Amino acid sequence: MDEQSARKLIVEIGKLMYDKGYVTSSDGNISFRLEENVILATPTQVSKGRMSEDMMSLTDLDGNPLNDRRVSSEIKMHLLIYKMRPDINAVCHAHTPHGTAFAAAGLSIDAPILSEVILTLGCVPLTAYGTPSTSELTDSLKPYVEHHNALLLENHGVVAYGKDLWQAFDRLETLEHTAKIAILAKILGGANDLPKDAIEKLINIREKAGYLTEAARCQACGYLEHTDVRCSLDAESVNNGNSNGAKISFTREELIDLLNQAVSLQN
Ligand SMILES: [Zn+2]
Repeated sequence: MDEQSARKLIVEIGKLMYDKGYVTSSDGNISFRLEENVILATPTQVSKGRMSEDMMSLTDLDGNPLNDRRVSSEIKMHLLIYKMRPDINAVCHAHTPHGTAFAAAGLSIDAPILSEVILTLGCVPLTAYGTPSTSELTDSLKPYVEHHNALLLENHGVVAYGKDLWQAFDRLETLEHTAKIAILAKILGGANDLPKDAIEKLINIREKAGYLTEAARCQACGYLEHTDVRCSLDAESVNNGNSNGAKISFTREELIDLLNQAVSLQN
């Protein structure tokens, strides 16, 4: 996407976020990776409902300014995600009321209650509180960025990201919609969880359809532990002359078992 189209789309998504009540005042921020090391982002202290295309800031991946528009102080969170996830080109951060209610209550969005959410988003974990705009916040996100596409920021808000601006916004919207349904179901006496075999079928479908990759099997997600779905880690085989550099893979349990055996052999 060219720069002018990206500026236009950030203004449009900013309006949507404001109109849907995902942000108030100058909350939230949106960014887009224009080139490998050039990020277009919303400026500091501007309502996302009243932006114009000429307001946007440009920075490099280390946050150094590339134009004279001061970028949001929360850009560090966006830059961490771009650095850790080459497949991600857009990030939306907001204080959506229902998602943020989970984050304020110290809860993840990880109950297996909605088939569509297992298919398209997966689990949304709670990341530990860190002061906004500091490395405290980015440090607490690090363990989760690789396998998740949306995160809850404890006592703060939510962040969602995707391959383009619409996918990032759609994931934000799915997160907020799920949080709202979970709260309403709780008022009605509590949601019923999907059974194990239904979850496994949905995970197979989402991988075949390409909604989520196998990386999502490694999400921090309570219900995955009750299924037979495993996070398999690719391990480069030892190049001992016989392997020809072929890749082998282990399940997490097999790898832990092998490491334990190696440790006990050393002792
Ligand atoms: Zn925020």
